[in-house]
Amino acid sequence: MESNFVITKSKKEIESSNLKGPIDTPFSWSDVLYQTIAKNAGSLNISHEALDVHIGTEVEEKTAIKFIGKTWPKDPSDVKDITYAELLHDTKILSQSLSRLGLSKGDVLFSLSPRLPQSYLMALATLRSGAVYSPLFSVFGPGPIQARMNKGKAKALFTLASLYHKKIDSIRAELTTLTYLIILDDDGSAKDIPNHIDFNELLSEDYIESNEVITTADDLALLHFTSGTTGVPKGAMHVHAAVVYHNLTGKWALDFKRDDIFWCTADPGWVTGTSYGIISPLCNGVTLIIDEAEFNARRWYEILQNFKVTNWYSAPTAMRMLMKAGEELPREYDLSSIRFASSVGEPLNPEVIWWAKKNLGISLHDNWWQTETGGIIISNFSSMEIKPGSMGKPLPGIEVELVSLNEKGFEFVKGPDTEGQIVIKKGWPSMFRGYLGETERYLKCFKDDWYLSGDLAKKAQQGYYWFVGRLDDVIKSSGHLIGPFELESLLMEHPAVLEAAVIGIPDKMVGEIVKAFIVLKKDYKGDERLRLDILSFARVHLGASIAPREISFIDNLPKTRSGKIMRRLLKARELGTPEGDTSMLEIT
Ligand code: ATP
Ligand code: MG
Repeated sequence: MESNFVITKSKKEIESSNLKGPIDTPFSWSDVLYQTIAKNAGSLNISHEALDVHIGTEVEEKTAIKFIGKTWPKDPSDVKDITYAELLHDTKILSQSLSRLGLSKGDVLFSLSPRLPQSYLMALATLRSGAVYSPLFSVFGPGPIQARMNKGKAKALFTLASLYHKKIDSIRAELTTLTYLIILDDDGSAKDIPNHIDFNELLSEDYIESNEVITTADDLALLHFTSGTTGVPKGAMHVHAAVVYHNLTGKWALDFKRDDIFWCTADPGWVTGTSYGIISPLCNGVTLIIDEAEFNARRWYEILQNFKVTNWYSAPTAMRMLMKAGEELPREYDLSSIRFASSVGEPLNPEVIWWAKKNLGISLHDNWWQTETGGIIISNFSSMEIKPGSMGKPLPGIEVELVSLNEKGFEFVKGPDTEGQIVIKKGWPSMFRGYLGETERYLKCFKDDWYLSGDLAKKAQQGYYWFVGRLDDVIKSSGHLIGPFELESLLMEHPAVLEAAVIGIPDKMVGEIVKAFIVLKKDYKGDERLRLDILSFARVHLGASIAPREISFIDNLPKTRSGKIMRRLLKARELGTPEGDTSMLEIT
């Protein structure tokens, strides 16, 4: 899998990187946690670490949030700057109002809101109040909202009047634990909503310092639902201790510098959009860009150029959408402000890295983590040579091993070509502390001191990790274990292929045969000639034993709303078996 081509780093990049090698120097997360708690006289709160720490420093008056409204750039004035001091001021008041309402430690506040400054404020205020913050992706329909809110015993909901009418009104009677409905009136229709609290009124109260709630490192802070790629989404619970991890890993894996203009394109409805879209950048005193609008390739280039984004965190799907928009478009823009670019959420195919290098002039740094890990675990950091297709190396203080779980039990696997399940030694502060309402399932994620991730990888030269696939997606054929990532990446190297997903189809002779679903680049027609051409391309490069035997051309791959390919759905559709939970399916 390892290619001979690497992206080497300049002397300047290596010298200015926040994380210089070697990364196996002893480092203990419990020391950092202990020191932070000691500094705070025993308490720990995410919102304090994100905001209060900057008061009295040069960060205080700098822009924390640069909000770009939907009507920008048509209306150039639709941009709003909020300083760290202003954000803290409002967070304190709102947090106190939430406590006065009756929200206390452990109560869960759900937020169903598009990317608006008020939803970021609500996240910080909820965390400060000691309540648990649970973001919902605003495009969810009533069903997924109800399921999550009831599972989380929602005590409060923050949403917009327009969203309430569309999604909550019909299920309100079923939300039996819901006590406080906080509404931001975005269209004048709040007056029709019974029993609600006006968001702006909560902001108009006086603040009394002595009312501050004290939280500790072990208090619950966040409830994040997983993406639902492999089944019904799980509710991962996180504590305030996670903030020390968010803070430092942002500095290391995302290379935050004080003057950064940082754009995390993940919606705060997902863990990435909260851990690294709100908490980590604020802890690091950088300016974060919030774009209210949905994806549009031209708009994205305009934002990168006009707001001089220096640090950009995105996802492979988003990159492939930019690829789809073509090579001409980025040439119209000056993207030279981008100093550091990174990606998460899915395997980052080498083809995408080379495309971004050639057409956007950036080196994409892949990193790997999960809702359960709460923060980045394996990453390509700034000073590192990038080996396209590799996720990078574990961060300091993180012990990663690969294991095979076989009849003998738990066995560490070694050697560059041996794949194993990624396991992480317990003890990093952002590790999840439970699956909501599923204790058994949570306990099954651990074996002795190790957390079992459910993902397969290989560890090759110089300690670089290479993603193989999820355990659920691995294909078993003629005694080989075939990881979808390698095959899909290879298929993407064919000039006609934009996206690819492979699955295993049961076969009496060999166990499973590989079938590929392919989305073509525009201007290509999925005829028999092209099908044979791609099949033979795959056979030449992969060998007959693992190359796909069948190919289907498809307009769009089924993806979760967070942009991940749902291979299980392709398989169910192919085999005519039940599709399982499809609430996370993005409707295209
Ligand atoms: P569910 O657990 O509900 O099936 P999910 O695993 O997709 O959904 P997330 O926690 O959002 O939910 O995603 C984490 C998973 O995403 C990882 O376990 C891995 O499979 C994949 N992933 C994330 N980053 C990368 C990466 N850089 N390379 C490869 N895979 C990645
Ligand atoms: Mg998962």
